[in-house]
Amino acid sequence: MRIGLGFDVHAFATGRPLVLGGVTIPAESGLLGHSDADVVTHALMDALLGALSLGDIGQHFPDTDESYRGASSIGLLRHVMERVRERGYRVGNVDIMVLAERPRLAPYKDAMVQSLARAMQVEDVDVSVKATTMEGMGFVGRREGMAAQAVALLLPDMSGGRVT
Ligand code: MG
Repeated sequence: MRIGLGFDVHAFATGRPLVLGGVTIPAESGLLGHSDADVVTHALMDALLGALSLGDIGQHFPDTDESYRGASSIGLLRHVMERVRERGYRVGNVDIMVLAERPRLAPYKDAMVQSLARAMQVEDVDVSVKATTMEGMGFVGRREGMAAQAVALLLPDMSGGRVT
């Protein structure tokens, strides 16, 4: 089996939607980025790529490429999952930690789990999304932005890569 680690940060920006784990969350401001700035899905993709030693999302989806402007990160996650299957692996489980002072994310955790599980074609129970504040400290505490951490465990796919 293989394990990967991901981390991402995005700054808040007014006039942008807040998309986390593919779920659009009502908020005063969204996150700034070339794509939809889905910090949760970005951390998860980096964990999956890291588990395969395939570099990072900056290499796979460069922000200099106009085709990724405003891109749905959930769509990019599906591309990363194709790499996982090509290499003969499947997702064992993933665990994600979101660091945000606001908005309160608890009401949206289940929707994020379902959205990410659907994109990865795994069961909801294999996806964990947790959230914490930074107790007012640092850039997250000052509400300048959000961060996310992820770990992903990949297992050899004994089904021969068939998607069930
Ligand atoms: Mg990012």
